[in-house]
Amino acid sequence: MQTQLIDKFGRPIEYLRLSVTDRCDLRCHYCMPRGFKDFETPEHWLSFEEIEQVVRVFGALGTRRIRLTGGEPLVRKGLPELAGRLAALPGIEDLSLSTNATRLARHAGALHNAGISRINVSLDTLRPERFKAITQGRLDKVIDGLMAARDAGFAPIKINMVIMKGENDDEAEDMVEFCLEHGFTLRFIETMPMGDTGRNATDHYLSLQTIKQRLQQRYELIPGVMPGGGPARYMQVAGTELRIGFITPLSQHFCDTCNRVRLSVDGTLYLCLGQENNYPLRPLLRAGISDTELQQHIIQAIDLKPEKHDFNDKPGQIVRFMSMTGG
Ligand code: SAM
Ligand code: SF4
Repeated sequence: MQTQLIDKFGRPIEYLRLSVTDRCDLRCHYCMPRGFKDFETPEHWLSFEEIEQVVRVFGALGTRRIRLTGGEPLVRKGLPELAGRLAALPGIEDLSLSTNATRLARHAGALHNAGISRINVSLDTLRPERFKAITQGRLDKVIDGLMAARDAGFAPIKINMVIMKGENDDEAEDMVEFCLEHGFTLRFIETMPMGDTGRNATDHYLSLQTIKQRLQQRYELIPGVMPGGGPARYMQVAGTELRIGFITPLSQHFCDTCNRVRLSVDGTLYLCLGQENNYPLRPLLRAGISDTELQQHIIQAIDLKPEKHDFNDKPGQIVRFMSMTGG
């Protein structure tokens, strides 16, 4: 079934990113401020039943792809149980997870068994001291998590590396070699001005065009591979299986092909990462809305999806952090 959700710019919406928590055990400085504790109260978190209803209704409207994200999704208790419930819903064909991997060594097997097939892992550096400086956490846990994920059978495993000038841009080649060695896909991401903390990080903004040109001096990169359902533009390292994606929201935005919406932990549907347009679903869910009525609300919400973000023209606009929306 094709998606029935078409926004007013003619874009089919077929992908839901679902934040199961706004909490996290790391504090990547571009995402969440140091010492931040002002999290959503548990009474406002959607319950597993409420999440299931939303996903069931999206599924009935033709959404095939769901990604669990956050905050750090593995901080939410019972994530494998939730994953299993969502994977079993009619129409949901692709359930994936974005994680920082600190807790993956413990949960990889259960998550894979529950029906998650693909995972993305944030990893900005391979140097323990630098990892600590960027995230306040421990690199060895992430590496253990990644190896456990590979052993559990996740494929592909994608590494997301946010590139920051003067902080980790000198490690692009090292990350290429790491991904070649372990069979991971690599994606570079430009910093986005999400909240004060994201805006501070954009002082370290570096266009990925620079990284691409640098890599091209060392590797032969074949363009146009893997036209995915997402924002990354992929290139392949000639003679290898390695694919490198470039996610360039600022230097080359991809809003005209945007196919996604995001649900935050408190049940607010955000229509764009870089705009405030949203539609609160929690009051409807708590009032016991039927699936048919919820369908109508979701169709109305999709109408609010803006044409594009304004990260370049109005970088001060978004006050919520990435971890709040569900990146
Ligand atoms: N905790 C999980 C993780 O780190 O993968 C999932 C949530 S995290 C918010 C999702 C993605 O958003 C990560 O790849 C992270 O690097 C990215 N991200 C967070 N803040 C960002 C910012 N200001 N600019 C660009 N990417 C950002
Ligand atoms: Fe946590 Fe992910 Fe944000 Fe880092 S990027 S603070 S791991 S939610």
